[in-house]
Amino acid sequence: MVALTTGFVWKDIYAWHDTGTGAGAAPPGPYSQPYHHFESAESKSRFASLVDVSGLGDHLERLPVTAATEQDLLLVHTAQYIDNIRQLSANPRGGDAGDGLSPFGNGAFEIALLAAGGTMAAMEAVANGVVNNAYALVRPPGHHARPEHGMGFCIFSNLGIAIRKTMLKHAIERVAVVDWDVHHGNGTQEIFYQDPNVLTISIHQDRLFPSDTGNLDERGSGAGEGSNINIPLPAGSGNGAYLEVMDQVVIPALERFRPQLIAVASGFDAAMTDPLGRMVLTANGYRPLTERLMTAADRLCEGRLVMSHEGGYSPTYVPYCGLAVLETLSGIRTPVEDFLAPYWDTLPDQQLRPWQQEAIGLAAHSAGLGRVKN
Ligand code: ZN
Repeated sequence: MVALTTGFVWKDIYAWHDTGTGAGAAPPGPYSQPYHHFESAESKSRFASLVDVSGLGDHLERLPVTAATEQDLLLVHTAQYIDNIRQLSANPRGGDAGDGLSPFGNGAFEIALLAAGGTMAAMEAVANGVVNNAYALVRPPGHHARPEHGMGFCIFSNLGIAIRKTMLKHAIERVAVVDWDVHHGNGTQEIFYQDPNVLTISIHQDRLFPSDTGNLDERGSGAGEGSNINIPLPAGSGNGAYLEVMDQVVIPALERFRPQLIAVASGFDAAMTDPLGRMVLTANGYRPLTERLMTAADRLCEGRLVMSHEGGYSPTYVPYCGLAVLETLSGIRTPVEDFLAPYWDTLPDQQLRPWQQEAIGLAAHSAGLGRVKN
């Protein structure tokens, strides 16, 4: 493997974003025993720890982060929504980003500004050529955040803001987003729905969340017609199905669109043992997915690839998925192995199943890509 300069963003304060004592995804209540919210710091801070303990962190370019400004947020969000979050965040007990599922504590506004700033720093470093590619391990996540509402544990659209800012600042006119979080990237889709210069592609478990978006017929509108591609997959899809998605839909769509930068909304909730997803990807399964995107980025846009962290709620398994992606991005293999690979990489569910192939074929057809093989 050829070692590349890979940028990395993580700040301890991302772990201080307080989502309270929800019982998983449900708020605590009379018959809902307080536990912790699934979107807790654990999976993220343990990912950051493994990057350090594995030694990989010594080879990554740690990128400094500046908080996003209000002007940056206004590239995507309304002034009223920004004010609302600022005021709720100043409340000693915090508030909710808008859907009752997205609680936050005091000071969340400032942490969310740093999360958006972290993704902006990663994209800036790639656009500038300071690094070859970059991973922003930020929190709170962003891909469900809509212009006027937060939802799905997301406050601000980290990637949406970074993309708008980068396109204003650099001679980058076309950006593609590949979202492999298990949930539909509805916020990113909505922000760029009429924008022909931003291709949004979401691979997700069919109607898992939100329950009413992410369908094949959502293809963009107006000038953006055709610039949104949804790939809803049946529950139970694994490494084989995701590779087929790459080969049949994502890579051909990127080839057709010819982006000047590729962004990834990188959630790891499509992996084994996630409490909110029902897919079976493994840490090693993320390696070829990352390689496919790197190869496409090399061919299309001088390797410019930026990943921004989204969901992923298994505290014990997300770190291995994240490390596998970072090892691939940097071309550096650490001694760390996924202990569970002998059990999970060989599951029959890792093979592409006919019903998965059918769903992928429908997505390719819907995106006007036809089928390359079969
Ligand atoms: Zn998710």
